[in-house]
Amino acid sequence: MRPIAARPFSNGFNLSTLSRLDSGQLLQCPSCQHSDSRVLESRAADSGRSVRRRRECLHCEHRFTTYERVESVPITVLKRNGNREIFSRSKLLHGLMRACEKTGLETQRLELLIDDLEVLLQQRNQREVSSQEIGDLVLEQLGDLSEVAYVRFASVYGKFRGVSDFISTLDKLRQRSSLKRQLAGIG
Ligand SMILES: [Zn+2]
Repeated sequence: MRPIAARPFSNGFNLSTLSRLDSGQLLQCPSCQHSDSRVLESRAADSGRSVRRRRECLHCEHRFTTYERVESVPITVLKRNGNREIFSRSKLLHGLMRACEKTGLETQRLELLIDDLEVLLQQRNQREVSSQEIGDLVLEQLGDLSEVAYVRFASVYGKFRGVSDFISTLDKLRQRSSLKRQLAGIG
């Protein structure tokens, strides 16, 4: 099992929305089976895909924890060759790990990147995404992590149509990181 990270929600999905789903619930206290409890604490878990709630039974004051999980629907990926396949987390992770070899980027960091991507995809209305779009979304984040990984991943995703394309991508990446350094007051 992957580690559960408690992080705040992003993208139009928040605790107050989920709290409203709470009304009318019939969650029984594990100790006395009373169906009313009050929520002591709510926090996002599993990169925002679930909510962990600490509750107290209104009858016997027994405290217990519940998890609410967002149902995830399979996402279809439209490939460049026109074929469709189900979005595979492990396949993407494998590609990312290859691109990040010897860059010092930890697998756990890459898993977080994919977590974010999955949350983003799950929150959209369309259930289909092009492989091109996935590549762009990943690159968007990789650019901040490692230049080497960025270039390797971009080439794996067939981003470059020729040498000039490769050079202009590198230029954009350089401009972007020098701008960031300036904004951070380093460069
Ligand atoms: Zn109780």
